Amino acid sequence: MNAQLERSIMPEEEKSPGDGRLIELTRTSQTNPMVRYQSIQKSFGDLQVIKGIDLDIFPGEKIALIGPSGSGKTTLGRMLMTLEEPSSGTITIEDEPLWQMELKGKLVRANEKHLRKMRGKVGMVFQHFNLFPHLTVLCNVTMAPRSVLGLSKEEAEDRAVMMLRKVGLEQKLHVYPSQLSGGQKQRVAIARALVMQPKVMVFDEVTSALDPELVGEVLSVIKEIALEGQMAMMLITHEMEFAREVADRVIFGAEGLIVEQGTPEELFRNPKSERLQAFLQRFL
Ligand code: ADP
Ligand code: MG
Repeated sequence: MNAQLERSIMPEEEKSPGDGRLIELTRTSQTNPMVRYQSIQKSFGDLQVIKGIDLDIFPGEKIALIGPSGSGKTTLGRMLMTLEEPSSGTITIEDEPLWQMELKGKLVRANEKHLRKMRGKVGMVFQHFNLFPHLTVLCNVTMAPRSVLGLSKEEAEDRAVMMLRKVGLEQKLHVYPSQLSGGQKQRVAIARALVMQPKVMVFDEVTSALDPELVGEVLSVIKEIALEGQMAMMLITHEMEFAREVADRVIFGAEGLIVEQGTPEELFRNPKSERLQAFLQRFL
């Protein structure tokens, strides 16, 4: 959190203890955030897209990340998924640096082995599902557990079937992606991420490429997974109603900074910044 935000938001929280889940969560899990972004900056060439982000996500916490297009939401998720390296700052998962590792008592840049280990704690679902068209649904989902976790075919299939059942696709194990609707494909992509049993999962606008009538089925699958509770989630979304229902905390970012954050109630009912007020107007 930048200093300005800290001044503008923290005193409000202090004033109203017990008001909202954020405070409760912060207190009960004070010691160990699941994920911690500290002073994160990211530039692509001359373009600085993340300008200093501090953000903790607690075990099991669901945060919704909202904000205008181009504000850096995807980049935040991709850094956690080890797809982009921060230009400066530290990301830790369960107190262990993501992009650095310890070598002979010193922190050095992470090697591929460290990144692979850390990546095992994170899952990500993208706007475009990127299923392998030449593999059945079941094979799409068993592929990573077999190749990355080294599970046997049977073990991987057991797990995959369980996850496909969770997303309501146990009838589709042996069909190919081309035989599925967009919503079904996205649910396979969710099962494919879940099967790796990540501790935190990033959902990056997973419904924005779908026909409107298919959005609901995907959101309700995510809602159900959220209700199971144990996995932390970063929900990057333009579905405000969904964010309100599912998130413990909503973060509004713009131009690479966190502008405002709080419980859905606080943010949607009573947005403080003009930027958030203007942003939310568009969804009314
Ligand atoms: P959001 O998800 O909030 O729409 P992004 O994180 O995708 O925002 O992008 C933030 C900014 O960074 C945008 O201006 C985008 O064009 C730019 N950007 C993202 N990825 C790259 C990249 N690999 N190379 C150059 N610019 C990038
Ligand atoms: Mg994006």
